[in-house]
Amino acid sequence: MEKLIIQVRVNEGQMRGENPHVPYSPQEIADQVHDCWRAGASVVHFHAREPDSGKPSTDPRLYAETVRLIKQRCDIITFPTLGASMLPTMAERTAHIVAMAQDPATRPDAVPADMLTVNMDFYDHARREFRGSGERIYLNTTRMLRELCESMNGIGVRPVAMMWNIAGIRTAQAFIEMGLMREPLMCEFTVFGDGFEEFGHPATVEGLQALVDFIPPGARWHWMVSAIGANPFPLHAYAIARGGHVAVGLGDHPFPELGLPGNAQLVERAVHMAETMGRPVATAAEARAIFGLHPADGVN
Ligand code: ZN
Repeated sequence: MEKLIIQVRVNEGQMRGENPHVPYSPQEIADQVHDCWRAGASVVHFHAREPDSGKPSTDPRLYAETVRLIKQRCDIITFPTLGASMLPTMAERTAHIVAMAQDPATRPDAVPADMLTVNMDFYDHARREFRGSGERIYLNTTRMLRELCESMNGIGVRPVAMMWNIAGIRTAQAFIEMGLMREPLMCEFTVFGDGFEEFGHPATVEGLQALVDFIPPGARWHWMVSAIGANPFPLHAYAIARGGHVAVGLGDHPFPELGLPGNAQLVERAVHMAETMGRPVATAAEARAIFGLHPADGVN
């Protein structure tokens, strides 16, 4: 079995109200990423945030500064978000990536391609109602996903198939057939805790296994699993046993049940679980080789 790749998802849109360790500024993100890399993380996913308020930001300078600071200190695979996911066009969503790719010092390795369109309203169990307008749609048309793959492939940034349901798996398979994505496929299964009922499969072993069962026979897919709004460690155990890879971080869950740890402490727990189960952990260089990414030499 190949070595375990650990992705750290440091912040998403989480605020410090629930866990005070959520990083906002480029320096805060880069410092935590360095600690996570030393602990055993080989991929980092982050969102740019306004340094003081923590508000989500689409400022390309914040994205570029974050990647620059990370690359100065380690070879972790950089996997920034497309930013404000609700922006209407793919050109707008990818503008910061295109700008960053012009300079090897700020060029990211990979970006997420969410392989679906989905209703995205949070369900409040206590109040028995969906919050907000009930009109929230995360739009990713086939044409937008094609545009995303074509533009990222053209600038040497890997589109990562983010699969939230079985249709997403089948769509990724079609994109490989069309030459828009390629194997070895860097991909991720995203599952969801309470409140995120509309988004996709539940964050349970059964929810994950239903996805894993539909990986095409013979496919060279290297999947990570992330759990939004839930403790992911039961899924980590499954993924470690099944040859998958894992993602963890304060972006997905504040971990009150673990005493509000920091991101590096969460990575340490994933490493410890892998070691306990007898699966070695990949370095960033080894993870690059598994995904077929270029070495971290500044030229992706
Ligand atoms: Zn994200």
